[in-house]
Amino acid sequence: MTPVTWPEFANIHPFSPADQRAGYTEMMAQLSEWLSEITDYAGISLQPNSGAQGEYAGLLAIQGYHIARGDTHRTICLVPSSAHGTNPASAQMVGLDVVVIQCDSQGNIDMADLAAKVEQYSDRLSCLMITYPSTHGVFETEVQAACDLVHQHGGQIYLDGANLNAQVGLTSPGIIGSDVSHLNLHKTFCIPHGGGGPGVGPIGVAEHLLPYMPSHPLLDPDAPVGPVSAAPFGSAMILPISWMYIRMMGPDGLTQATENAILAANYIAKRVKDAFPVLYTDARGFVAHECILDTRVVKDAVGVTVDDIAKRLIDYGFHAPTMSWPVAGTMMIEPTESESLAELDRFCDAMIAIRAEIAEIEAGRVSADDSVLRHAPYTVEAVTQEVWERPFSRTQAAFPVAALKTDRYWPPVGRIDNVFGDRNLVCSCPPVSEYAETTEVA
Ligand SMILES: *Cc1c(COP(=O)(O)O)cnc(C)c1O
Repeated sequence: MTPVTWPEFANIHPFSPADQRAGYTEMMAQLSEWLSEITDYAGISLQPNSGAQGEYAGLLAIQGYHIARGDTHRTICLVPSSAHGTNPASAQMVGLDVVVIQCDSQGNIDMADLAAKVEQYSDRLSCLMITYPSTHGVFETEVQAACDLVHQHGGQIYLDGANLNAQVGLTSPGIIGSDVSHLNLHKTFCIPHGGGGPGVGPIGVAEHLLPYMPSHPLLDPDAPVGPVSAAPFGSAMILPISWMYIRMMGPDGLTQATENAILAANYIAKRVKDAFPVLYTDARGFVAHECILDTRVVKDAVGVTVDDIAKRLIDYGFHAPTMSWPVAGTMMIEPTESESLAELDRFCDAMIAIRAEIAEIEAGRVSADDSVLRHAPYTVEAVTQEVWERPFSRTQAAFPVAALKTDRYWPPVGRIDNVFGDRNLVCSCPPVSEYAETTEVA
């Protein structure tokens, strides 16, 4: 991280003339070349600041292409029901009409529904937006057939590249047969993005879409597609992070990272599946680089919610994984290549231990409302109260597994009502009147 703070990277103005940023130009050209090689696309635009902005840029490129061919009537965008919410939102922003494609019981794109929809909208078809591997965490075997089908009807393929971490070195959007994708450098290529930023969502495009990539008045005022962000090279300052990551990993290292990410997800899926069923797998029982644990089964059986499990995970020392997306009431786990086997095991042990706590409710020994889960997480204050009237012990609340006795994270607050909090905003800054008083005194 240190190099991005060096003045040579940090203090260049986004609008500085080309002859004052020769190093940046070289670094960005190399990064673009590597990303082209990784994706098998003809060109890359580093301008979009996020995946969502990349979707917007990519769809503008598709529309630019259709319009240049006189196909102004191609405005239908097909989106599978498993898509990330940004997909239909971006399509809407570009002025496309979204038509949803259903998924089958295995979570895959329903090919019969796709065939029917491309037939129905054939002459109005703009594109299909797909994600590979799918947001359900599965490598869909029909993905190339889906691309062919859409191409036969004159449509383009937008492949959402947010899951590129499961492709790098093994396959690519180009091989799959798509025309344009965004990559999330803040997901696959190491840019830290906790707390909402900063991001980089470059797009890669096939040859025929090259003229329709985002441009900028400072670069080419006459380009068919204008800018999608204020600065010509978007979040340029953080590009060295991805540059360094790719440079240091090399082709073999990047491929190994992909393999490890897939292995880690499958390891978790296999170890935890008897505690919580894995919602979707491929025909051979494997997942891609992430897996959805179906926590709804315990909700249906004994009323333990995904929130109860997420809050209890805090006591075991984990920030909860993605909740209720892409399937409500479930938990999605993407361990990535970065976690050690010991850490993966610590997580699996926690999930299995939580399942045992739920079994106490199933056995009728405690109600869900009185259970150790419903009141999680536990603060120091909560477990050191003078009087303890819960039906479970303080030890069970604070140290459900022995390893926590030597290393435990203590949360600053106990269970809060998330929904209430979200709907009742509290302004913690002083009111303007207070500033006025201070000014008078001064
Ligand atoms: C993260 C993600 C996006 C959006 O990317 P942002 O950089 O958060 O805007 C789009 N699609 C999928 C599948 C994602 O996981």
